[in-house]
Amino acid sequence: MSRRPVFAANWKMSLRRGAADAYAGRLREAVHELPAADVVLFPPFPLIPVVAELLAGSPVAWGGQDLHPEEAGAHTGDVSALHLLDWDSTWVLCGHSERRAEHGETDELVAAKVARAQRSGLRPLLCVGETEEARRAGRTEEVLARQLSAAAPAGDGEWALAYEPVWAIGTGRTATPEIAQEAHAFLRSVAAGRLGEALAARLRILYGGSVKPDNAAALVSQPDIDGFLIGGASLDPDSFLDIIRRCASVRPRG
Ligand code: PEP
Repeated sequence: MSRRPVFAANWKMSLRRGAADAYAGRLREAVHELPAADVVLFPPFPLIPVVAELLAGSPVAWGGQDLHPEEAGAHTGDVSALHLLDWDSTWVLCGHSERRAEHGETDELVAAKVARAQRSGLRPLLCVGETEEARRAGRTEEVLARQLSAAAPAGDGEWALAYEPVWAIGTGRTATPEIAQEAHAFLRSVAAGRLGEALAARLRILYGGSVKPDNAAALVSQPDIDGFLIGGASLDPDSFLDIIRRCASVRPRG
């Protein structure tokens, strides 16, 4: 099964307007080097217009780091799918572990966000992952199955999944390729149980957690790892491009 890889940069609350401008300009210069892959930026909301203006018409896509499950209304501080679409976003992160931990996002809320994204024509990138405590207690599969089953969209719309072990995010402790592959294969089997074998075989499952140019190729050479959601190492466009380039030579797909 050939699955087009996804390389996604999660800027979180980093980079400011000038840096976003320079970053988008650097990607624009490099578009001819990009392999057959989905390359997606997740800037802070106010920087989406900067990226949208500079990368319009390029193969690079962008999206929001979050959205509200309603399309409009009295929700101070929130952002709707319609705002993301106003700036030609095509993707949106749902259920990132920092949203779950810092904003108390429950599986039910994440499911509502995924559903809204799909209804609005955005591609949700659903994030799941166990804490260190859950892994130590032997509860990794239980957590992953619960988070995926609660929020996986039912239909055949476009979406992707990111396995992001919480203990590996921003810690420099990347999961080994074997640990990541085991979790990805498990998630694909859960997806198959819910959605059927054919959809599960097409589902792109990204790994996230301290991915860097040096460890990306070994991870992406695993059969169920279809790309990355990258935080820290995506903040420098050359490091992000380096990761993409190193993976293209390992596993040309698409
Ligand atoms: C993330 O937050 O999605 C992430 C994977 O961060 P980092 O690459 O910095 O671990």
